[in-house]
Amino acid sequence: MDEREKIFAELRKQNIRITKQRKAIIDVLEGKHLTIQDVYSELRKRGYNNLGTVYNNIDFLLEHKIVAQIFINGKKHYDLTIDEKSHSADSHIHVTCKVNNNIIEINDSKIFEDIKQNEIFKNFRITKLQLVVEGVCDHFEKDSCKKDEACFIKALGQAR
Ligand SMILES: [Zn+2]
Ligand SMILES: [Zn+2]
Repeated sequence: MDEREKIFAELRKQNIRITKQRKAIIDVLEGKHLTIQDVYSELRKRGYNNLGTVYNNIDFLLEHKIVAQIFINGKKHYDLTIDEKSHSADSHIHVTCKVNNNIIEINDSKIFEDIKQNEIFKNFRITKLQLVVEGVCDHFEKDSCKKDEACFIKALGQAR
């Protein structure tokens, strides 16, 4: 049984049903951050044509914390959270180059711990903590981020 199957088996035990379409959504989100439009156009290729059902299934996955939603570049993106325990929207920072919407993840639990341990939150239980860093690469003026190879964020993503 591979990792993914183990996770599904675990969810079944909790009566969380991973239907074919829910599985398809999980598949298309693998390694990507997608908007609802992106998810829907990928699902259409697989023969799922009902946008309402896609919305409902995304809601179901959100509710069961299998997927997280993150606002990046002004748009809601969906992100898988089930790959590994450390991979949740609360453990990695999303960094995006605004020129071409490239999104990468940086894992740095220390930053999150620093926030959680901060004096301000002494009497407060944090239930959600997301970090999104938006910006442009230094050479932005030269427009080079429009070519993916020249984008610092894109290159950083590929190096990981
Ligand atoms: Zn992510
Ligand atoms: Zn860039």
